[in-house]
Amino acid sequence: MHSLRHNLIRVRERLQAAATRSERASGEITLIAVSKKHSPEAVRTLFDAGQRVFGESYLQEALNKQQDLADLAIEWHFIGPIQRNKTRAIATHFSWVHSVERQVIAERLNEQRPPELPALDVCLQVNIDQEPSKSGVAPQDLPALAEQVESMPRLRLRGLMAIPAPRESYAGQVEVFLRVRELLERLKSSGQYEHLDTLSMGMSADLEAAVAAGATMVRVGTDLFGAREM
Ligand SMILES: *Cc1c(COP(=O)(O)O)cnc(C)c1O
Repeated sequence: MHSLRHNLIRVRERLQAAATRSERASGEITLIAVSKKHSPEAVRTLFDAGQRVFGESYLQEALNKQQDLADLAIEWHFIGPIQRNKTRAIATHFSWVHSVERQVIAERLNEQRPPELPALDVCLQVNIDQEPSKSGVAPQDLPALAEQVESMPRLRLRGLMAIPAPRESYAGQVEVFLRVRELLERLKSSGQYEHLDTLSMGMSADLEAAVAAGATMVRVGTDLFGAREM
């Protein structure tokens, strides 16, 4: 538990250093602690150390954890693949969804977001390396999907999320993240989007490169919690 606190300090230092190198303010970058496959106790320890935003990929595991931790003011982000029969629970129990990649899923989240909650903040997941087996909308299909989601009143389109294929070098990591950023800039420049401000990119192995390329949210699991166990 002591080491969890230490890990949080280390990751925050890395973010700060990366931000400074890019002449950015570290306050522009939100750290999402990816707690999938880790216990509610581990989440509680990081919460007590000041961490407020947590990301989960598996719905049932996330719901169980949320119940255990209902006394904590955590902002929960859903970052995993979304099956259509899971949309109602996701729309009800999360503040953000990073992994919208199809219109039908967006439509269901829009319909099922409870009226008493604010609009659901969403990112569109982009398959930036066009890998056949990977999730995400193809870059060429992004503008059409973005336009559809922007028109959905219970969703607030905030930006893009990507998980690039691993790169050998820092320069290679930066290059692919800059392509994600370019996709966001292109959408923004159309002038038809009201809330686009988010680039959700960077994980344990490449968070420095993501920050250099303009990430506003990084999603870190392993380097905070250690190897996944459950
Ligand atoms: C698991 C996961 C992460 C965290 O990855 P680490 O390499 O453990 O930091 C980030 N984003 C998504 C979408 C994930 O599924």
